[in-house]
Amino acid sequence: MRLDVLCARQTGRSRRQMKPLLAQGHVWVNGHVEQDPKAWVTGFDRIEITDEQGQPCLIQTGRPREYWILHKPAGYISSHVSESGHPTVFELLPEAVRQEVHFVGRLDVSTTGLMLMTSDGQWSKRLSRPEFHMPKVYRVQTESPMDEADKQAFAEGVWLHGESCLTRPAALEIMNEHWVRLTLHEGRRHQVKRMLRCRHNRVLALHRESMGPLNLQGLAEGEVRRLSAEELQAVD
Ligand code: URA
Repeated sequence: MRLDVLCARQTGRSRRQMKPLLAQGHVWVNGHVEQDPKAWVTGFDRIEITDEQGQPCLIQTGRPREYWILHKPAGYISSHVSESGHPTVFELLPEAVRQEVHFVGRLDVSTTGLMLMTSDGQWSKRLSRPEFHMPKVYRVQTESPMDEADKQAFAEGVWLHGESCLTRPAALEIMNEHWVRLTLHEGRRHQVKRMLRCRHNRVLALHRESMGPLNLQGLAEGEVRRLSAEELQAVD
């Protein structure tokens, strides 16, 4: 809900009375001054107010954030709403957290592999930015063999249809005649499939092996677990 609404509700003030407190920097969200009355806050945010006398007052402690890793099977869609009979990846999570989390980078329905889910919007935004340099590694089965020219093209960047700039340099490792490993540093829509199409090839199967330091070790298809403190630290 809006920050001014929540503060008004919790303190018995009106939204009009909240206005000067916000404008003068008396409201803190997760340790930072927030002056926008329309800022969106949830039960996960810690909210404090210092009153006109400078006395701090805790409005809401904020529930702990959720951070999950899951091994997506084929046939599950990355959406809250089930489509054409496909189950959603949220159904793999315990019921209590389903409504609280969103995914960090979706996977196509046929793609398998690593997905991250979180209730922390700042964290997912940061991880999704190309500047964050979170390599995403995909194992790809290809219709036709790939070669050195493909490697070179991906290293230099290719133009995807409808995009205004080249793809970022990507590393292609040729494993055998029909399998390659592709490392991307960005996440455009259907990027792997579109990159292969640029090279007149086609993806037959796609699996995300890792995102940054996180991989699927110990997680069978369809399994999920919370990220450990060490893993969260490794990502940051
Ligand atoms: N690139 C794709 O084309 N599909 C995915 O699911 C992920 C990356």
